[in-house]
Amino acid sequence: MAAMKLRSEVLDLPPYRFEAHGAAVKLDQNEAPEDLPEPLRRAALERLAARSWHRYPDLHPVELAERFGARHAWPSDGVVVAGGSNVLIQAATIVAGLGRRVATVTPTFSVYALQARLLGAELRELPLGAGFVFPVEAFCATVAEGCGVAFVAAPMAPTGNPVAVDDLWRVAEAADDRWLIVVDEAYGEFAGVDHDALARAHPQVVRLRTLSKAFGLAGVRLGYALADPAVATELRKALLPFSVSALQAAVAEAVLDAPDVVAERVTRTVAERERLAGALARRLGVQVHPSVANFLLFRVADAAGTYAALQRHGVLVRRQDHLPGLEGCLRVSVGTAVENDAFLAALDAALAEGSAVPEEVAHG
Ligand code: PMP
Repeated sequence: MAAMKLRSEVLDLPPYRFEAHGAAVKLDQNEAPEDLPEPLRRAALERLAARSWHRYPDLHPVELAERFGARHAWPSDGVVVAGGSNVLIQAATIVAGLGRRVATVTPTFSVYALQARLLGAELRELPLGAGFVFPVEAFCATVAEGCGVAFVAAPMAPTGNPVAVDDLWRVAEAADDRWLIVVDEAYGEFAGVDHDALARAHPQVVRLRTLSKAFGLAGVRLGYALADPAVATELRKALLPFSVSALQAAVAEAVLDAPDVVAERVTRTVAERERLAGALARRLGVQVHPSVANFLLFRVADAAGTYAALQRHGVLVRRQDHLPGLEGCLRVSVGTAVENDAFLAALDAALAEGSAVPEEVAHG
């Protein structure tokens, strides 16, 4: 059959890049390294068993919105719950970017640009500065004109560094009410920083949170936005009705009943991140970039070769060397202590097997 005359924005778009590989030590998707404790999984199943499966769930999950709202002392009518924060990135693009502009940095989380292209927004991708610093001047200049939606992952991804809170205040002020400013706090728990004061002062700021990282629920698919209630009403219009299932709600409610489980996981992950960063920095031929997230970006002489050698040793990391400014870079998620040790041993073996070490990296 001849090629269908579908929208050129879609035909021109490459699919989302992700190849699933099995591995004994899986450190490629910034997930929580361990599943929830068995009693908590059982509590979630009991909650689910107590619901009617033949009825539609709430149009928008009211109880969850209240619980998330309480967690952040945020009004529940300003909480928008969806099946992953990806869905809310799309909703924000529909309400503020479609037919207008989408601004973000590059490199960053790829879904911002993908949704902009898919939905026919004019995309402005602003390169990070030296050391992957947020380009505050260029960003303020971009949002000073036109209208649209701006996405900033804070902490940044895949570089892992924080964005100065003052920079985001400047962006919000430059944007005024013409741009929606989405601050994506996917890794916020690991940084110990949020943007509560910024969002309270600026109704154009929307914070995104995910349950896929610190909460350990990547398989359940849930995220939420904290927005000004008037903005939240518009974001809800862009979601499909009944899209958060009873199953998703039951599991999330059970985890919200056990906040210590999440807090302890974050403490362990942060301690392991620091240990892993120190150990990586001591490896000859490895440059590790400072991170406040649950992953580390590091540069080696031969990213493809090191990636393949790690895989041969049973450790899966994520290649990032295709991204602008990230030549030679791989990203490793912080795992359990045992997994991190396995990764370090595999990396030693991979480096010994022969990626040549360039002078400036070896002595840098
Ligand atoms: N934002 C960032 C910065 C991410 O890295 C990710 C996931 N990798 C997401 C959002 C998407 O999270 P979710 O699983 O909630 O869709």
